[in-house]
Formats: sequence, C-alpha cells, structure tokens
Amino acid sequence: MNNLEWKIEQLPGEARLVVLSGAITEDADLRALASLDGAGALSFDLAGVDQINSCGVREWIHFVRRLAEADRSFEMVHCSPAIVRQLNTIANFRGTGRVRSVMLPYYCASCRGEVLRPMDLTPGASREIVDELPCPTCGGTMEFDDMPSTYVSFSS
Ligand SMILES: [Zn+2]
Repeated sequence: MNNLEWKIEQLPGEARLVVLSGAITEDADLRALASLDGAGALSFDLAGVDQINSCGVREWIHFVRRLAEADRSFEMVHCSPAIVRQLNTIANFRGTGRVRSVMLPYYCASCRGEVLRPMDLTPGASREIVDELPCPTCGGTMEFDDMPSTYVSFSS
C-alpha cells in the first residue's frame, strides 16, 4: 500500500484545500492535519485515497472527532469508492463533516481501464448516475462499476 500523502492549497480567506492520496492506515499521522495553525474551514479532497484498512478507519474517526472538538468545520469532496464504502458502513466516519461530492467508478471490459468521474452532491445538483460512458482510452463502453444507491445517499 502507498503511504498517505497530502498537499495543502490555500483557498480564498482562511480556508484550506487538503488533497490526500494513497492509503489510510495505522501509519497515517493525521494529527498534523487536525492542528493546522491559522487555517479556517478545511476541505478534504479524497479522490486519491485508494485504500483504507481497519486501523486507518480508527485513525480517521479519531481525526474527525478532533476536528469537531476544535470546532473546525470541514467537508469531504471527490470521495473515492474506498471512502464511499466507509461512509456507508461506519456511522461516524464523516463526523460533523459534509460530503460535497463523490467519484463514480467506471470500468471498461475491452481495455480493462478504470476511470473515476466526479458527481456533485450539493443541494440542487442532479444525482443521476449514467450506466454507460464511452471509454476515453479505447473508445469502447465503460460501465458503472458499483451499487448506485451507495453514491447518492449522502445529504450535505
Ligand atoms: Zn476501454
């Protein structure tokens, strides 16, 4: 598994965008992120988080609890399929955070390519999941590769 990495980008005002990638495991030290000095609201881009193990889930839950205790507002954007799975099975995985968008997984049987496409979950956005898309690699047909209901159930 790839270690968790992140990079922090400044958003307007005090807000910060934190782009995470890799695997969330017991080795992920999220404390540094929970105590970002001087930063306001946090937005976590989770598209690149491809794995999370049971110890990682525990670390993440501690992390979002620390954010709540520090009264920091945060949101989760571009949640990867691995993150969506946890959001659906672990009640307090999102803590006080909002889920703004998810990444929909598509699979092409012709070239075995996998593509993630973003879906907006903010109020008023269309939550329609297209079953099939043209494959950007081979021109074949990619199919949605998961249970649609698990991607649209979050309110933000
Ligand atoms: Zn293809």
